[in-house]
Amino acid sequence: MATHVSPEILIVMAPGATPDQTENVVARLGEAGVEARVSRGRESTVIGAIGERELLASLPLEGFPGVEQVLPILKPYKLVSRELSPDPTVIDVDGHRLGDGWFGLIAGPCSVEYREQTLETAHAVAAAGATMLRGGAFKPRTSPYTFQGLGVEALAILREARDQTGLPIVTELMDPRHVEEVLDAADVIQIGARNSQNFLLLAEVGRADKPVLLKRGLSTSVEELLMAAEYVAKEGNERIILCERGIKTFEQSTRFTLDLGAVAVLKTETHLPVIVDPSHAAGRRDLVLPLARAATAVGADGIIVETHPRPEEALSDAAQQIPVSEFGAFASEIADIAALMGKEIG
Ligand code: PEP
Ligand code: MN
Repeated sequence: MATHVSPEILIVMAPGATPDQTENVVARLGEAGVEARVSRGRESTVIGAIGERELLASLPLEGFPGVEQVLPILKPYKLVSRELSPDPTVIDVDGHRLGDGWFGLIAGPCSVEYREQTLETAHAVAAAGATMLRGGAFKPRTSPYTFQGLGVEALAILREARDQTGLPIVTELMDPRHVEEVLDAADVIQIGARNSQNFLLLAEVGRADKPVLLKRGLSTSVEELLMAAEYVAKEGNERIILCERGIKTFEQSTRFTLDLGAVAVLKTETHLPVIVDPSHAAGRRDLVLPLARAATAVGADGIIVETHPRPEEALSDAAQQIPVSEFGAFASEIADIAALMGKEIG
C-alpha cells in the first residue's frame, strides 16, 4: 500500500448478498488497483475500499450485484472505526479473551523489582482469577533520578512468571531498539501514556505480531488516541486494546482525572476493546476500587491494576498499588459487576 492512501469509502452489502457477490466486488476493486478490507458483521458485510479518492469515484460500485450502499468514511480514523467494522473486536491472548462480552482482568506490580516480588504477585493474581500479568521492565519515570526498571533482567523474570502461572505478560516497550527483547517476553506490548503519540514507536508495534495495549496520553483527546491506534492498524496490526488511564486537568485531588465519559464515547467510535487503568488515575490505593467499579459499570472491557506484596516498599508508584493480600476480594467484586454488565472474565 502506498503510504499516503487510506480507506475512503465503505461499500455496504445488502443483507441477502451472497459471499460470491462480495468476492466479486473485492475482485473488481483489485483489478482497479484498489485494496479492499472485508468486515463480515452480524448484520451485514461491509467492504472498506482503500485507494485514491478519484479512482474510487470512477468505479460504478453502486451498480454491482449485492451492493446496497456506497458511503464515504467521514471520520479521520478509518481502520479502527466502528463504521468500517460494526462488530466489536475480540482480542485473544493465548486463550484469554478481551472484548465483546469478555472482560480482561490485568494485574501485577508497577515495576518488576526482583524475582520473588514478581513471582509472589503473579501467583496471587492468578489464584484470584486475573487473566494477564502486568509488570514494567522499562519504566517511563518522570524523574531520571528514580528507579528506571530492571530492563532485560526484568523480562527474564516475567518469562519465568508466565512459565509458572500460565498468565500472558503485559509489559511496556519504550524504545524501538528494545523491540526484539520485549517481543520475546511480552504477550501484549504496552505503549505507555508518555509514548501515546510516538508515531515511530506506534508504527514499530504495528509491524509486530503481538497485541498492543495502547494507553491514552496525558493530554491526548479521544480523537488523537484513535489516530494513534490508526498508526498501529495501518501497519497491519489491528489487535489493539485501548486504555483510559486518566488525563491532566485542573483537578488535583486525584493524580489524573479518570475520563469515564471517554470510555463510553470510545465504545461508540471504535470496534476495539477499551480498558481502564484506575491505578494511575487514582494515584492512591483507597480510590482504586471505586474507580474500577465505575469503569466496569460504564462498559469497559477490562481493567489493568497495580498490586504489590508490600506496596509501601515499592520502588515506583508505592501510593497507588493495592496489597496483593487484598487483590482477591477486589477481583471478585469487579467480576460481579462485570457479570451485571453481561460480561464474563476472559
Ligand atoms: C504503567 O502502566 O506502568 C504506566 C507507566 O502507566 P502510564 O503510561 O499510563 O503512566
Ligand atoms: Mn505505575
